[in-house]
Amino acid sequence: MKTAPAICRKKMRYRSKETAEAAAQGAFVRAALKLRVYRCQLCRDYHLTSRTKGMKTPSYEFQQLRPQ
Ligand SMILES: [Zn+2]
Repeated sequence: MKTAPAICRKKMRYRSKETAEAAAQGAFVRAALKLRVYRCQLCRDYHLTSRTKGMKTPSYEFQQLRPQ
């Protein structure tokens, strides 16, 4: 995914994919926000995006959707 420099500077940066995924999962659990992790070409760190089209659905979203 391409990120504009202005967007990159504004966004939260995560040093590892694991940290970014944990943050995305936290947002989903707390606020039902569906976020996806992607590697930024500019800073080489990870950002979260709310654009989910064409992105793989993380396992925790399936778990939340399953009836208890
Ligand atoms: Zn970036």
